[in-house]
Amino acid sequence: MYKDLYNKIETLEIKGVGEKTIGSLKNLGINTIMDLIFFFPRTYEDRSNIKKISEIKSEEYVVVIGRIISVENRKTKTRKTMTVARITDGTGFLDLVWFQMPYLKKSLKIGEEYIFIGNVKRGYNFQIASPEYRKYNGKLSEEIKPVYSSNRNLSQNGIRKIIKDTIKKYISFIEENIPQEILKEYKLIERREAILKIHFPKKFKEIEEGKNRMAVEELLILELGILSKRFQLDFDNRSKYKLNDDRHMVKKYLNSLGFELTNAQKKVITEIHKDLSSGKIVNRLIQGDVGSGKTIVVILMLLYLVENSYQGVIMAPTEILAVQHYLSMIDDMAKLGVRVEIFTGSIKGKKREKLLSEIKEGVIDIVVGTHALIEDNVKFRKLGLIVVDEQHKFGVEQRKKLRDKGEISNLLVMSATPIPRSLALSIYGDLDVSIIDEMPPGRTPIKTKWIESDNDLEKAYEFIRKQLLKGRQGYIVAPLIEESEKMAATSATELYEDMLNRFPEFEIGLLHGKMKNKEKEEIMSKFKKNKLQLLIATTVIEVGVNVPNATIMMITNANRFGLAGLHQLRGRVGRGKYKSYCFLVAKTDNDISKSRLKVMESTTDGFLIAEEDLKLRKPGEIFGTRQSGLSDLRFVDIVHDVKTIKLVRDISIKYLKKNKGEIQEDTLRIDIVEKFKVNEIG
Ligand code: ADP
Ligand code: MG
Repeated sequence: MYKDLYNKIETLEIKGVGEKTIGSLKNLGINTIMDLIFFFPRTYEDRSNIKKISEIKSEEYVVVIGRIISVENRKTKTRKTMTVARITDGTGFLDLVWFQMPYLKKSLKIGEEYIFIGNVKRGYNFQIASPEYRKYNGKLSEEIKPVYSSNRNLSQNGIRKIIKDTIKKYISFIEENIPQEILKEYKLIERREAILKIHFPKKFKEIEEGKNRMAVEELLILELGILSKRFQLDFDNRSKYKLNDDRHMVKKYLNSLGFELTNAQKKVITEIHKDLSSGKIVNRLIQGDVGSGKTIVVILMLLYLVENSYQGVIMAPTEILAVQHYLSMIDDMAKLGVRVEIFTGSIKGKKREKLLSEIKEGVIDIVVGTHALIEDNVKFRKLGLIVVDEQHKFGVEQRKKLRDKGEISNLLVMSATPIPRSLALSIYGDLDVSIIDEMPPGRTPIKTKWIESDNDLEKAYEFIRKQLLKGRQGYIVAPLIEESEKMAATSATELYEDMLNRFPEFEIGLLHGKMKNKEKEEIMSKFKKNKLQLLIATTVIEVGVNVPNATIMMITNANRFGLAGLHQLRGRVGRGKYKSYCFLVAKTDNDISKSRLKVMESTTDGFLIAEEDLKLRKPGEIFGTRQSGLSDLRFVDIVHDVKTIKLVRDISIKYLKKNKGEIQEDTLRIDIVEKFKVNEIG
């Protein structure tokens, strides 16, 4: 019976609700009976919410009491009837507007007082279109009345009645989905009670009680949905493999490095090693700011598996990055007798065939590559660890496809997008999170300046000239153009030509997404060797590029970038022993852009920037939230309710541990399945 609540809204059996009304409900996004029961009020009509007309603002949802001073029917340009009533409450005037309802002129009585509820818009006057209204009889009822989102075909009273009748008829089918012990431990009210309290509260406190319970419920469904898959994986794979913990290669490699690992790196290595050595499947995000030393950590883990006769993979988002990884490892690995090869889409013919067969035979220990690695014909002898670099360029599906090639599917994801830990835990729900929150010593700080005027821009160019004369190098990033790679290439080319004129004494290179991989590699390798002093580029240089001698990063039209993007780009400099500089060129009146630029000037701390970024964004825009299902949370604000998010995550983990990854309660299981069904479509 409970499951029937997830049936199509057409199966609703409420007196007076016909096809037309069903259509209106669907327009409101109500597709199942459950949707209707969970169609909670957008606000409530109550005494404390009454606004004086003089105090209302545009785009505000208000309750107003006013006396009607005029009502008239007008014709719009499209020959529709528009009824306009003007009211006053003594502090100002407000217009109320309805369309195609001429009979209202008769029913709205001039001189009488009414209560009006709706969304205020600014026209000639403040006005509310199609407000809900009722006669005011001199006193407001004590009752708190729910106010629902509605549309033209469904009056406020209409939807109120439908919901009331629906809940009356179906509430007994609603079953508790939070296990009793959790309800008790966290002092949450029962589900039916919560639904009733949110729709028909007697006191305001009841709305909060209800919403609080629903917040836990929606997070629990989400977290359990994500985590149960994860736990299943663990239980299925536990102790399927055993690693020899001698780690001679790892030690040898460590000794060959000219430096000590930072404490943060050591901590993360311990975390991963603990998983590996206990036979647990590794499924972990390594988060660390650009240059924090994630790559070394990953190489150490790859070596650990290789010396246990497994193969490993590093998958990079672009060919340039794959090549860089490859080149940076090859010598060290050769010294250890570890064979590394690169595999990308541009390797063809005999060479490709040979690589494929060597990967399959297990002659190759570590394969560095791009998306090409996901192809079906890439088979391994004994794949043990997959490393995905900069995960935001890969989908969940792609990760899975790669995992399925493995004997054991250990996965490490490297990300340089700093996200506050609490949020990371939820966004990457199925991954454990390790954070490298410390930079290797000896990093030189980057000075950042926001350039607004042409005069300052000239000065910046002169500054760049001086740096280049000192032997340093620099990047200039062309305007961000998202419409097409081609347009981005054109704008970069224009900038390049400008710079050729401006800096005739230096060698300048151009890098954009429309160039062939071979050309790109050539340019990068020239830049690395300091045969080019200045590199004009689109955001193709955003990730991973490492040229310690580069000390200048100039970003044109910096106002077009988000904070994360700016931070990534800036991370290309400050990688060597010289002081580095970042110029953000932007003319903008937009307050959010201005705030972003100021944040960039004030700090280079990626985590601080991430938190500021959150504050400047709406939750739905936060990277990754859409796929994770976090964006359609209705009772939880992921930016501010961090505590609840964390609490529910802990509850979920405890629950799954106790139940060996299985969801025991039928109701809860049904809700999880339904939730993820919706997510997959949406
Ligand atoms: P990330 O991948 O996090 O951007 P990398 O692993 O590429 O960072 O490291 C950036 C640079 O810092 C590399 O040149 C690397 O050799 C160096 N590095 C990494 N760890 C340390 C350390 N503990 N001490 C000094 N230098 C380090
Ligand atoms: Mg890196």
